[in-house]
Amino acid sequence: MSRVAYVNGQYVPHSRAAVHIEDRGYQFSDGIYEVCEVWNNSLVDMGSHLDRFDRSLRQLQIRAPMSRGALVRVMKEVIALNRVKNGLIYMQVTRGVSPRDHYFPPKDTPPSLVMTAKSVSRLKNDQIAARGVGVITVEENRWDRVDIKSVGLLPNVLAKQKAKESGAREAWFVDKNGLITEGGSTNAWIILKDGTLVTRPATHGILKGITRGVLMKLAETKGFHVEERGFSISEAKQAQEVFLTSASGLVMPVTKINETIMGDGKPGPIVQDLRKSFHEASELIKLNVAGD
Ligand code: PMP
Repeated sequence: MSRVAYVNGQYVPHSRAAVHIEDRGYQFSDGIYEVCEVWNNSLVDMGSHLDRFDRSLRQLQIRAPMSRGALVRVMKEVIALNRVKNGLIYMQVTRGVSPRDHYFPPKDTPPSLVMTAKSVSRLKNDQIAARGVGVITVEENRWDRVDIKSVGLLPNVLAKQKAKESGAREAWFVDKNGLITEGGSTNAWIILKDGTLVTRPATHGILKGITRGVLMKLAETKGFHVEERGFSISEAKQAQEVFLTSASGLVMPVTKINETIMGDGKPGPIVQDLRKSFHEASELIKLNVAGD
């Protein structure tokens, strides 16, 4: 079955989906994006993702490409056309196409909107989570506005590639105070020996992950205390359990930090339980996939 993408008002074969060479996303990274999970025929936490999508647009003074209702219709259509039951939907908006110039283009320049959806094997993700992943640490070198989900991800790309070449899956950025900010595409968590969950506050230095917010709620429902504060590499290495959150990886156990193997090298029971019950705490919007 061939894949279909949405590009500026049209549903086109994925292999031929393209934007103009003078799209400002292509030339200046002048755009934002969102990634939303599709799980068991449902959109996961779509409302929160779209709230953050709107916020990112406002922060960069990019016009919304269409109303929320219309956007949701396109999302559902892209998911249906690609027969995605478990996977991810990606949506990106840029400041549009205009002759290259750093200044904003004329006000009537329409923003560009593209969307793609892909199936992801839940089994494969669960297998990765069952083994746990490694992280490396790198110096924080990103700009000050990482709270905006901008498509400018070069430091994240370089950090994650370095992780991959070191046999790890994620790279944690470490700020000038020696505290971990977040991963290249995930938020970072530790669980202390007394069972307290610790994650950096979303006031500065991180993207306010939607999965992070849901996990926080879930953990509190289960009776865990959640503390929002920074933590260092050495505190993480001494933690009982360590994990990452993101819409694509959900709750992902960390079993190695740089060269240090955590505990017995296997995912711990708290993280495994939080992963298993994650969708109990998330908002699910049922999709009507053709053929169901
Ligand atoms: N931080 C960064 C830098 C990310 O790219 C992501 C993934 N979008 C996250 C955190 C996790 O956010 P979410 O839970 O909303 O996917």
